[in-house]
Amino acid sequence: MSDHSPEDLSTDTETQGEHSSLESRINVYGLSEPDLRAQLIELGEPKFRAKQVSEWVYQTGVTSFSEMSNLPKNLRDRLSQIYCFGHLEIAVSQVSDDGTEKRLYRLPDGQMIESVLMPYRDGRRTACISSQAGCAMGCSFCATGQMGFARHLSAEEIFEQAQTFSKELQQRDERLSNIVFMGMGEPFHNYDQLIKAIHMIKDRLGIGARKMTVSTVGLVPKIKRFAQEGLQVKLAISLHATRDEDRSAIMPVNKKYPILSLIEACHEFVAATRRRVTFEWALIQGENDSAAEATRLAQLLKGLLCHVNVIPLNPTAGYEGAPSDSSRVNHFVETLEKSGVPATIRVRRGIDIDAGCGQLKSEVERKKQAQKKESELIQIR
Ligand code: SF4
Repeated sequence: MSDHSPEDLSTDTETQGEHSSLESRINVYGLSEPDLRAQLIELGEPKFRAKQVSEWVYQTGVTSFSEMSNLPKNLRDRLSQIYCFGHLEIAVSQVSDDGTEKRLYRLPDGQMIESVLMPYRDGRRTACISSQAGCAMGCSFCATGQMGFARHLSAEEIFEQAQTFSKELQQRDERLSNIVFMGMGEPFHNYDQLIKAIHMIKDRLGIGARKMTVSTVGLVPKIKRFAQEGLQVKLAISLHATRDEDRSAIMPVNKKYPILSLIEACHEFVAATRRRVTFEWALIQGENDSAAEATRLAQLLKGLLCHVNVIPLNPTAGYEGAPSDSSRVNHFVETLEKSGVPATIRVRRGIDIDAGCGQLKSEVERKKQAQKKESELIQIR
């Protein structure tokens, strides 16, 4: 019996009261379909009721018991006392001029995480979701890296970010089509929960593995393991430099897994999956945006089935580098393409709403600190 067992659930009124707070109820997203059915039967419900509830949860994708219209009201009320649909609470929500929606969620233990929904003209709706609260990788240009690591997210917490956008889109007759694991955290540092979340998203939201992308800074052993998972999930590597000394200066992980070992793991991934690897390259003015760097990059990637996504750096308060101007961006991409490496310039989304990884949380923290200082000053006066 899992620790989500209903055995420790009493249905008397007093105990129901204890279960009414969000954290103390069982998170439905953490239960498999057979587990949920078994629990409902243990709670005394007939098999057909258990089937009805599980169809609502796993096929219709409802997010409250009140939506289960073929259930008697007293059962819906009773189940609402025992179970909840997720634990994320929206702390801040912003919509950009370009339609990008950014969320800052508060978790029951007070941690904050971010998710972003990006609508595209071709109809795609892509959710960028977090795998950790904070991040241990310490990339110097990244707002999340600058705040440090707090904890791993559970598979349910990862899944719920996608589920929330999926549900909201459904209500507007749209459909969540793609998932990128590029929010806060290094997904491969939280490997087991990531894999579990991928399966939940595939099975419960109907989003195919080919429509999901995991982005990593390059945890080499995990890339090799991922290659053997038998999943068709895409792999993206945050590269940003071609020489170890340059990369280690902005991405400490490179000291442990240098560039050549990373490229070798990518070859292994392509050989095992036949899938193209994407390299993410944040262009930093005067740092990694020269034609010579583009030529070195093309040499490094020679013979590898891959593609380079070039994106001007998203500036953060804790890093001095600036985004490359458009002429340098274009020249970098042209040089890559002339050398036979396909490359695309990605448009920065949601610039007006701090949509880069960790930026909204940093901004909220900064404002909180400023307010705290302000009230301390008032008290002194
Ligand atoms: S870029 Fe990714 S891996 Fe690096 S610190 Fe930021 S969240 Fe972590």
